[in-house]
Amino acid sequence: MKNTKELRTWLDDMKLDHPLVIAGPCSAETEEQVLKIAHELKDSDVNYYRAGIWKPRTRPGNFEGVGALGLKWLQKVKEETGMKTCTEVANTAHVKLALEHDIDLLWIGARTAVSPFIMQELADALHGTDKIVLVKNPINPDLALWLGGIERLYTADIKNLGAIHRGFSTYEKTKYRNTPEWQLAIDFKNRFPDLPLINDPSHITGNRDMIFDVSQTALDLNFDGLMIETHFDPDNAWSDAAQQVTPDTLKQIMRDLKIRKETNSEADYTKSLENLRAQINVADNQLVDIVGKRMKIADQIGALKKEKNVAVLQSKRWNEVLGNMILEGEKVGLSEEFVLKMFKAVHQESINHQEKVIKG
Ligand code: PEP
Ligand code: MN
Repeated sequence: MKNTKELRTWLDDMKLDHPLVIAGPCSAETEEQVLKIAHELKDSDVNYYRAGIWKPRTRPGNFEGVGALGLKWLQKVKEETGMKTCTEVANTAHVKLALEHDIDLLWIGARTAVSPFIMQELADALHGTDKIVLVKNPINPDLALWLGGIERLYTADIKNLGAIHRGFSTYEKTKYRNTPEWQLAIDFKNRFPDLPLINDPSHITGNRDMIFDVSQTALDLNFDGLMIETHFDPDNAWSDAAQQVTPDTLKQIMRDLKIRKETNSEADYTKSLENLRAQINVADNQLVDIVGKRMKIADQIGALKKEKNVAVLQSKRWNEVLGNMILEGEKVGLSEEFVLKMFKAVHQESINHQEKVIKG
């Protein structure tokens, strides 16, 4: 992709004074539900109304979407509210039907974005379309795979493009449904600064109480918009109940978010600073997380030492660790003095943890 500036024309042409907002239910359930939510969102910042028509479910037997019938309901949303519409497409039959029903924006889901074969089929089916096409990150944290999918669409002469960051699956349970791996999104932005990037806090968090925080981080990292699942009765939604918010909550979130839109040089400075601080916050969280993991391992060593009745402090091993870390630190520009201080503190905390296990 050479001239990435042209890729954001569709977004710039909207001349928004706030981030792009895509909202609506995870799934279209009934005509009444789709229209009720749409009317409640009508006079808000929402630019595109979303509803999943075909739902990718991890296990069979769950609600798999209403199918093509729902596209008619989305057409009604457009007629009655003037909001533009969008839905997920995952195969050529979906693309054909969505285009026939004049859906304005199509997104490709995380489970589809992992497959170069399917991405190529979709690119061929969408060839030359002037509809907006957004590609969610693949479920595994692979930047090249994500970009590769987008490049396939670009090569198929689809120029109204963008990406959605919805987080990544992990085996280990975390506080997120899909961990954001902000660093990957930051790398994505650095590689293609003009390609519109939308954040999807709903699928990242899986939890409506965390939507605001993740949205604010995304805006501080200069994301271009948000996709937030919205339902008038979230707890009884047919899919993704825990993460949906009501239209009123969505409006409140939009009011509370700090959105920087000024463009004078002072504001540019503030924006750059906020952006760098958001990156620092990401790095700090990773630091605490990894030190926490290290201490859990120390606890396990403590348990082993207790069993074998071995002393907590093993000086030879400790000197080896220090020596290696001073060398590693040098490679990334950390002074010996700093590495020594940091590892002494880490070591002390490990000893405290192990003492606790041994005495416990
Ligand atoms: C969705 O947006 O409802 C969806 C299924 O998302 P994802 O592809 O991110 O899981
Ligand atoms: Mn969903």
